[in-house]
Amino acid sequence: MYIAIEGIDTAGKSTQIERLREHFKDAVITKEPGGTEIGKEIREMVLSTRAKSKRAEFLLFLADRAEHIKEVVEPNQGKLIISDRSAVSGVAYALVQKEIDKKDLVLLNNFATNGIYPSKIFLLKLSEDELRFRLSQKELDGIELRGVEYLLNIQEAIIEAAKLLDLELVTIDATRKIDTITSEILNNIN
Ligand code: C5P
Repeated sequence: MYIAIEGIDTAGKSTQIERLREHFKDAVITKEPGGTEIGKEIREMVLSTRAKSKRAEFLLFLADRAEHIKEVVEPNQGKLIISDRSAVSGVAYALVQKEIDKKDLVLLNNFATNGIYPSKIFLLKLSEDELRFRLSQKELDGIELRGVEYLLNIQEAIIEAAKLLDLELVTIDATRKIDTITSEILNNIN
């Protein structure tokens, strides 16, 4: 089973992925962008220097995704694969940028993934108040973060992206305690 964890920055994806790694000792834990050798280079390229062309940036993310499906997902189909982000993130960011037609977003992703998608997506969802609080804490650490409005738009777009790709989305209230969130995810997987 291939599942993905989605959510905006500060939603707690990495923390939950680490919990799942401890729980499912035999699971393949992966991520995109950057889950393969080539993917690491693409991730570095795309996140360090933002492309002038949003289409170029989108295609780089797709190249990462195609390699990730071929190198990590396909060979491990018999195992539990847990991915930090998926095609849903790729489509969500592109939806907010509004540069590419929705039908092309789906078509291009189908091409990149060869039709292989997570069978379940967990969205770690934050309320606006909680997001503001978490961002203010991060800013204290000197980490530069994107704005609240932008991140809330991405969060909404994640829901729309899952619908466009016709994927099952389980929304998890991520404002709660770490243990509670982990239990809810585990109950749902089992
Ligand atoms: O969660 P992760 O560390 O993998 O994401 C790295 C950064 O890349 C995040 O700030 C996220 O907003 C951004 N990203 C993006 N487009 C995607 C996926 C992630 O801009 N398709």
